[in-house]
Amino acid sequence: MKILVTGGAGFIGSAVVRRAIREGHQIVNLDKLTYAGSLSNVAEVAGDPGYAFEKADICDRGAVDAILARHRPDAILHLAAESHVDRSIDGPAAFIQTNIVGTYTLLEAARAYWSGRGRPAAFRFHHVSTDEVYGSLGPEGRFTEATAYDPRSPYSASKASSDHLVRAWHETYGLPVVLTNCSNNYGPYHFPEKLIPVAILKALAGEPIPVYGDGGNVRDWLYVEDHAAALLLVLQRGRIGRSYNIGGDSEATNLQIVRRICAILDDKRPAGAPHDRLIAFVADRPGHDRRYAIDAARIRDELGWRPSLGLDEGLERTVQWFLDNETWWRALQARPGVGARLGTAG
Ligand code: NAD
Repeated sequence: MKILVTGGAGFIGSAVVRRAIREGHQIVNLDKLTYAGSLSNVAEVAGDPGYAFEKADICDRGAVDAILARHRPDAILHLAAESHVDRSIDGPAAFIQTNIVGTYTLLEAARAYWSGRGRPAAFRFHHVSTDEVYGSLGPEGRFTEATAYDPRSPYSASKASSDHLVRAWHETYGLPVVLTNCSNNYGPYHFPEKLIPVAILKALAGEPIPVYGDGGNVRDWLYVEDHAAALLLVLQRGRIGRSYNIGGDSEATNLQIVRRICAILDDKRPAGAPHDRLIAFVADRPGHDRRYAIDAARIRDELGWRPSLGLDEGLERTVQWFLDNETWWRALQARPGVGARLGTAG
């Protein structure tokens, strides 16, 4: 398959690009290279004859049309987004622009391209979204694909809007779409402003490890390589018009995650005293969702997907990857806002 991946220089997009090239697909990586994107994430495939990079903004209809005409992909796998909840609190405009207007622009470009080629049934527009569109859970229950949308942050509201647009373009224009809503990812190339890399890098530096509120917020963690595998599977075998929830079946509180990382570092990089002495509780994020949990029965039963890694092994691999790739994360730590406390306005 020839796949146009948007956001392929980001955390999850680059895992998809690396995996798709390994599986023999051809990839066109369309990315604006915002503060969150880096070509070092895809360096290992840059010389592959099946790989091409196009620096472009998904909001730029002319650029997207030209890229589609030049490369003639069989499918679009849409990951480009503003993705950090804290940044969405301080500056929602970029989230409205890229996540909503950008998705709309991409849908219109895809519709014109697909119509112009005689509406091939095999074409796919795969929209990659988040479990955050479903809102916040109490101690019980899990999100299914039938859970009502209830987004509560500018980030999740912008992603929910884009999901609605994608469904509307299917119902109204017949565009062959699939959607996925995934839980929190972690793993190699995770941008160093998100909880897990922040905890690893603060602990390594011997600096306070910030934990929001009481640390009791629960997320359902999925190793990024497992998400990439699920995305390529849904793209090829998912039913048109359908949504698939993707989750790791690995719920943990933020505090449990940070303590686990500290224990792994105590083992791999002993510092004379336990790393968890560095844990520092800080003011909570405004509107912080308490719990997310995914019921992934549909993708498991229909398509046979399961996560291959549990949380302990995934975290161990992730910590090791950060220990082995200091040049990568040091370069990104110099980018604007990284390392600062963001998203406290409320
Ligand atoms: P990321 O922030 O690491 O990467 C986003 C990429 O999109 C970057 O390479 C950036 O340069 C690019 N981009 C941003 N705006 C663009 C624009 N206007 N035009 C073209 N490219 C642009 O994000 P991520 O964590 O890899 O998330 C990828 C997708 O998966 C997002 O749609 C996100 O909502 C979704 N998602 C993320 C998670 C998670 O835990 N990270 C979980 C579920 C779903």
